[in-house]
Amino acid sequence: MVGCAIENGTAPGHNFREVLVFNPSIITGIPHINLSIACNHCQSPPCVAGCPAGAVEKDPGTGIVELDGDLCLGCAYCSWVCPFGAPVYDTAKGVMTKCDLCSDRISEGLKPACASVCPTGALRAEILDPETAEQHIPFFPDSEALPASSIGKTGKMPPAQIQFIDTYPEEVLAEFTPGGKGRVTEVSLWKEWPLLVFTLLVSVLGSVFASFFLTGRQVDPVVFGTVGMAGILISLKHLGKTFRSFRIIVNFAGSWLSRESVFFALFLLSALFSLSGTLHPYSGIAGMVSIFLTAVSADMIYVRSVSRRSRSLHSAQVSITLILFVCAATGFTGGVVLVSLIKMFLYLRRKTAAAAGSGWQVLLSVLRLVPGLLLPVFLILLNGYDGFIVPLLFLLGELLDRSEFYREFNPVTPAILMEESFNPLIRENVSGRSCL
Ligand code: SF4
Ligand code: SF4
Repeated sequence: MVGCAIENGTAPGHNFREVLVFNPSIITGIPHINLSIACNHCQSPPCVAGCPAGAVEKDPGTGIVELDGDLCLGCAYCSWVCPFGAPVYDTAKGVMTKCDLCSDRISEGLKPACASVCPTGALRAEILDPETAEQHIPFFPDSEALPASSIGKTGKMPPAQIQFIDTYPEEVLAEFTPGGKGRVTEVSLWKEWPLLVFTLLVSVLGSVFASFFLTGRQVDPVVFGTVGMAGILISLKHLGKTFRSFRIIVNFAGSWLSRESVFFALFLLSALFSLSGTLHPYSGIAGMVSIFLTAVSADMIYVRSVSRRSRSLHSAQVSITLILFVCAATGFTGGVVLVSLIKMFLYLRRKTAAAAGSGWQVLLSVLRLVPGLLLPVFLILLNGYDGFIVPLLFLLGELLDRSEFYREFNPVTPAILMEESFNPLIRENVSGRSCL
């Protein structure tokens, strides 16, 4: 790590290489493992495919995956899709950085800095045969990315059977640090609020436009366009380099983030044409198609990430919310009831699969389901669609659901896998039971 930091001039806490330690306090009976890890220069790097700005490339000659900081937007998406937690966000510059395998040194025939200073030869740079390279590495997430690096085993791996001792008092064990000490890809509601607002606006604007196109309800194009532009400006707050935001459409062929941006711009343009009576009805059809493509692209951004939360169908998905809002805005009561039931089922499934929450989380869940979903459906069945109460309650429910989604969105990295493996061992040890 020190050799890497000196070579690349990285600030403390922004190292490209990190050493994860399993069982750092060396508790007897639990294996002690050190895992030195940086970018694996994957054979099929998701960071290259996912980067909307085309800022990450794999050199066809050397296989090195390099990130061009002059092209980077600072959207952080590469860190959501990297299974190894390798990209490092430079908060001072507002761009992502990562290991480039010391490509300058390699071009001069030198070893990477980390390999040249490693005293035991545990880190080496050599050409590997992909067929025989080690693919199943403890604490590495299952991934199609396939690390191009090989992690050799210099010592014995954990034995199949571990017999725990039961002599550690609980207060002593409480002081042991958890296994994973490494970098964790940080995704929080506090950081992602511009995305929360933008994804909600996609559903709101889509349903408002659908009510105009399908039922003929009057919509003021100036207000509509202003809210749409505000949504775009708010979403840009998520980028580290706002002035490079035009680059977000560069990788339309590979990145769902690029597609989401292009489809939303198309939606806004078509909807404004349609609202002002231009090219009717083709502009309206284009608007309807492009808003659904925007919602699907927004969902795919999270599906492609390495978060377990976002892989399966869930209640906060933008496309499901859009369908609910469109049904409500066009007065299609059967659709409202059906989609609400689906959302309720998906929400309850997600919550029952998660660990028991605190009192606040239970309260949020009740608010999300009762006033945020069931009450507006009840009011529609009772009084129809008049007034602002129904849309406001639906919006409150979706705001809560989507907020919870961002709060629970944790990309899975080796550091997290290590911690997840270590903590049950500690618990078993505390209770004095043996574990096979
Ligand atoms: S380890 Fe991560 S950053 Fe490196 S090439 Fe693979 S996906 Fe990209
Ligand atoms: S533009 Fe986004 S995805 Fe591409 S390198 Fe920069 S932070 Fe990563």
